[in-house]
Amino acid sequence: MALIVQKFGGSSVADPECIRRVAKRVAEEYDEGNQMVVVVSAMGDTTDHLIELAKELNEKASAREMDMLLSTGEQQTISLLTMTLNAMGYKAISFTGWQAGILTEDVSSKAKILSIAPHRIEEKIAEGYIVVVAGFQGATESGEITTLGRGGSDTTAVALASALNADFCEIFTDVDGVYTTDPRMVPEAHKIDRISFDEMLELATMGAGVLHPRCVEVGKEFGTKIHVRSSFNHNPGTIVEHFDGKAIEKQMSVSGVAFDRNVAKISIFDVPDRPGSAARIFKVLSEEHINVDMIIQAGQRRNENKISFTISSDDLDKTKTLMEEMKWEFHAKDTEYIDNIAKVSIVGAGMITNPGVAAKMFDILAKNMINIQMIATSEIKVSCAINEDDLEKAVKALHAGFGLDMPAE
Ligand code: ASP
Ligand code: MG
Repeated sequence: MALIVQKFGGSSVADPECIRRVAKRVAEEYDEGNQMVVVVSAMGDTTDHLIELAKELNEKASAREMDMLLSTGEQQTISLLTMTLNAMGYKAISFTGWQAGILTEDVSSKAKILSIAPHRIEEKIAEGYIVVVAGFQGATESGEITTLGRGGSDTTAVALASALNADFCEIFTDVDGVYTTDPRMVPEAHKIDRISFDEMLELATMGAGVLHPRCVEVGKEFGTKIHVRSSFNHNPGTIVEHFDGKAIEKQMSVSGVAFDRNVAKISIFDVPDRPGSAARIFKVLSEEHINVDMIIQAGQRRNENKISFTISSDDLDKTKTLMEEMKWEFHAKDTEYIDNIAKVSIVGAGMITNPGVAAKMFDILAKNMINIQMIATSEIKVSCAINEDDLEKAVKALHAGFGLDMPAE
């Protein structure tokens, strides 16, 4: 008997037929004698529709009310799935995030989970129930409803699996697993059978939409194995887990190409070249919970620097307001905001032992006449910010250039 946490994304629960399919899948595992906890997302595009609806009534609705609204999407699915299981003759009960004991920080729309007190879930599992939990939501200590950021149901699932000490966490989605890049853009992309938490974290952070980056962080921290697979078939998907050193050595130097179109680049010119300037800018951004990705500081003239950085396009309006204040504070001459930016990244565990990998990436981009605007590296990734119009060409060239077009052995 195993304790299994399964998570089904929006496309897997989009309509009654899908919900029935999910219920059958959960029941199959339960009938084999397993204890089941199921985390679900909002049905289909419900979250997007709710956002549109809100915008129609108030372009600048408060984050608190947005969380209140968006959390209802998942709440619909938990009750519908539970009713379906009940109709099939199974004991099942639904819990919202706060009923499930998910405590989050007091940050609307992208709250992090602080802790989970899953005693209600444990009680019901012990009584033989299938427990269905709303993804993407929790509550603060003072009882405010929060959401975990788009795609956050994955994180709910892995965090619950970790808190419950589950045997593993299955993330069901509409693709067969994690691919070397998005197969919608590159048909030659292929499924990765097994990947380390570190590589997956980079791929997810760099824009591979299949898993929410924070769920990979949680999995890594608690050693909770994640199986990403399709809810439409029984094929084995991708296992995300810790690799031993030996396995890492055997990895190819590049295991995936990730990309993100949702990037904006900000530059401030003539920032005084003195201790504290950069600290001031990035403190202001962090206070507003704006994630900064790539940063470049370049000497411009004597005593003056140009500071450029990238953020998610979603944060552009907020950032503009803040940086115009900074410009005034620094007596800087100019600011520049470019939204038409994309980021392309190559990720691979063996990269640090293959110094030629970055050089090869730049060379491939150069041969395709693609200008690199910013570069960022880590032990296992190299990212370049490029013009968004060049993105598809870049991804295809890198995928082919690093030998990923061929099926893995
Ligand atoms: N429903 C939320 C979203 O669409 C959370 C999730 O699906 O994971 O982003
Ligand atoms: Mg998702």
